[in-house]
Amino acid sequence: MSDEIPDDASLAKAPSRSHGRLSAKPVLRPRDLFDDARAVRGAWLARVITLFPQAFPGVLEQSLTGKAMDLGLWRLESYDLRQFGIGKHRNVDDTPAGGGAGMVLRADVVDAAFNAASVGANPDRARWPVVYLSPRGKPFDQAMARRFAACEGLTLLCGRFEGVDQRVLDHHAVEEVSLGDFVLTGGEIAAQAILDATVRLLPGVLGNAESIEEESHSNGLLEHPHYTRPPEWEGREIPPVLLSGDHGKISKWRRAQAEALTAERRPDMWAAWQHGQKPRK
Ligand code: SAH
Repeated sequence: MSDEIPDDASLAKAPSRSHGRLSAKPVLRPRDLFDDARAVRGAWLARVITLFPQAFPGVLEQSLTGKAMDLGLWRLESYDLRQFGIGKHRNVDDTPAGGGAGMVLRADVVDAAFNAASVGANPDRARWPVVYLSPRGKPFDQAMARRFAACEGLTLLCGRFEGVDQRVLDHHAVEEVSLGDFVLTGGEIAAQAILDATVRLLPGVLGNAESIEEESHSNGLLEHPHYTRPPEWEGREIPPVLLSGDHGKISKWRRAQAEALTAERRPDMWAAWQHGQKPRK
């Protein structure tokens, strides 16, 4: 019975091994910056400004995104915001003008970090967006991931505390992007989520291009449910159609499941999808 489920490349386990990570490194010295500028012409480059550079590449060095990094399909540079701080203590923040709780990242400190991260980067924001992760930003989605993946690179500023002085965001034409309607303590997790979603769309990162086209949020529908061995588990069976070998029937079933799931869980997506399906006049 189990033989009836076709083997699929996506079921294959990747060997686990440790990788040398030459392509993820903190940079600051001008010499490094110029070396990196040359490399910009090659792989897609992410530059992350953060108070916690040790948090990168973080989860991005695992699995597909990590392998893609090893293969040189993308690179990551982290810029330690602390290095741009003021005075002996390298202060990066101060109390909010007008009063109130918490601290705000200083415009002059963040400006110095943006300037360092701009060396060798395309100044055209359409080719190289500069993003501040922020709960006030435009919600990140698959279309934005596609847009970022089509660029030469991306600079991401991770905020902390209450946020960042507005003047430096305006001065550098920074785009604010939100991971969702909730508040994180810092932008680092949001940055990694956005990089993960973007990097997997870069050419060559996913082996099977079809899996991008069919998955949730790519074609306007949520994806159909998945099953694998064993064929019976805890009294639950795999829907028989999936074991039928009839690929026409299978794709019709999957489409129907995707539509039903989308209608039930995401009325907003379902309405948009139905609208898009209407025959054009
Ligand atoms: N006072 C701010 C929240 C600050 S949270 C406000 O009310 O809007 C501290 C940092 O976490 C922010 O500067 C931002 O970089 C990051 N952050 C928090 N929530 C986020 C979200 N939903 N998406 C992206 N970044 C977020």
